[in-house]
Amino acid sequence: MSDKNATPAAESAGLDFIRTRILADRAAGKFDGRLHTRFPPEPNGYLHLGHAKSIFLNFGVAREYGGKCNLRFDDTNPLKEDTEYVDSIREDVRWLGGDWEGREFYSSDYFDQLYAYAEQLIMAGKAYVDSSTAEEIRARRGTLTEPGVDSPYRNRSVEENLDLFRRMKAGEFPDGAHVLRAKIDMASPNLVMRDPTLYRIRHAEHHRTGNKWCIYPMYDFTHCISDSIEHITHSLCTLEFENNRELYDWVLEALGAYRPQQIEFARLSVTHTVLSKRKLIQLVREGHVRGWDDPRMPTLCGLRRRGVPAEALRAFCARIGLARADSTVDYSMLDFCVREHLNAHAPRVMAVLNPVKVVITNYPEGQVEWFDMPYDPEDASRGSRAVPFSRELYIERDDFRMDPPRKFFRLSPGAEVRLRYAYFITCQEAVLDADGNVTELRCTYDPASRGGNSPDGRRVRGTLHWVSAAHALPAEVRLYDHLFLADDPNDVPEGSSFTDFINPDSLRVITGYLEPSLAEAPEGQSVQFERIGYFCRDRDSRPGRPVYNRTVTLKDTWAKLEKKG
Ligand code: ATP
Ligand code: MG
Repeated sequence: MSDKNATPAAESAGLDFIRTRILADRAAGKFDGRLHTRFPPEPNGYLHLGHAKSIFLNFGVAREYGGKCNLRFDDTNPLKEDTEYVDSIREDVRWLGGDWEGREFYSSDYFDQLYAYAEQLIMAGKAYVDSSTAEEIRARRGTLTEPGVDSPYRNRSVEENLDLFRRMKAGEFPDGAHVLRAKIDMASPNLVMRDPTLYRIRHAEHHRTGNKWCIYPMYDFTHCISDSIEHITHSLCTLEFENNRELYDWVLEALGAYRPQQIEFARLSVTHTVLSKRKLIQLVREGHVRGWDDPRMPTLCGLRRRGVPAEALRAFCARIGLARADSTVDYSMLDFCVREHLNAHAPRVMAVLNPVKVVITNYPEGQVEWFDMPYDPEDASRGSRAVPFSRELYIERDDFRMDPPRKFFRLSPGAEVRLRYAYFITCQEAVLDADGNVTELRCTYDPASRGGNSPDGRRVRGTLHWVSAAHALPAEVRLYDHLFLADDPNDVPEGSSFTDFINPDSLRVITGYLEPSLAEAPEGQSVQFERIGYFCRDRDSRPGRPVYNRTVTLKDTWAKLEKKG
């Protein structure tokens, strides 16, 4: 493939701009035809939905085009990082299918090299030690419309800079006494280029290097050099790093080091949630949720616990694609992808979440019949299970109306419906309590309709799910809704916090009645409760007391309600 043809061909093949660019670089022989990406999380929190986009992109292009992708922990801040986060990140990346083939790196492994590079910059007259306070540095930085002002320490000699920097490293100074800055241009229109800080003093223990260092390199300095050391070819990052690219290029050029190609893409934002580690930490610390893996959290572990399959996240990220401009994706698109996957993969079972009792008056007392029911009505090869039927059953309270509206094909006095895979029943009487609430439905069944088949060609319009009351397995069912009511909880009025907009009904816990086949279901298994939604067995389940999380409803009730209202 020639360079000239690469781009149009790729674009007409429906490839996004990053893949198009990678193929063009390869066709042009850039980087000797190599492709090497990396996923570079900072281990200062759990990964979230936004990271999934970056993981699928970086590991995805590497796999598609025979390249490599590293997992690199960008761990330059000893105060915020922790091995707990490192472990969770590994697990989450693996869950999404990311394979770093043993290439697990840490920026902290490069501290010696980074330090040597810093000295190299000093010796080249391209970095200096500034002894100003943080406030002074900020005050001299200027604004978007005004240039900054040179620090009085900017013209220190190389010898003095080197001496001070070495003494910083030796621990002679307290935190904040000095910083090392790049000597670039205090008048640059790009604020990032106004003599950015490269190193600061922090007398703090690092989760990997212990107490070896009391000076730590800044993120920007570390990030570009780490990419360079690993010979990354395409350094894919989100748009907010566009301005930093100039600095990265300056640093690597000044050092004469290998230089990757940075390409920026839009960050993922999703309605009704927040995708910032800082905010997610706050939700956990202030107890707004039950932990990092609370199924309402947009963290990967939260989504996993809720029952969202990794394949659905992959489909979601593929569907939203890659863009060069930021935008917000509606949460319902994620729900759509989750439903699409689970519809094809989750076994169907029966559960009644809001029960009303049905007594089949002409069914022999004490009799139990076991009906064989397929897990997938369209694919018998996926197996079946036996479900007990008896004289007393539960059906969904919503499936009965005393005064049915037109086109209500479910149960009402005198009406006949099918109980799924069992029998036709007719409601003879509704027993009410003193307040007029239905306490019991007295019905008769047609023994000739066994299996739920019409004995004589007569039609019933409604088919209801049910469970045998005596055999029902009570379960704790956790019904989730959006964590935030506002479309964009990141955009809140002055003086309020995003936590003020938490949905007070984001979790509702009820007791549901499950068919007994679910007694021994494995933790993490997703099932469809017929006619209700997709649910996932939670790890809080105990013998005899399963716990199920609602992953998503069967239909998009929100969108429907919105249309009606
Ligand atoms: P946060 O804002 O949540 O703290 P971050 O960008 O600081 O996120 P990092 O750990 O530095 O988090 O991110 C690792 C990688 O994931 C980076 O390459 C970053 O660009 C990418 N990433 C983070 N958030 C998103 C997002 N919302 N959409 C796409 N990519 C993201
Ligand atoms: Mg970050």
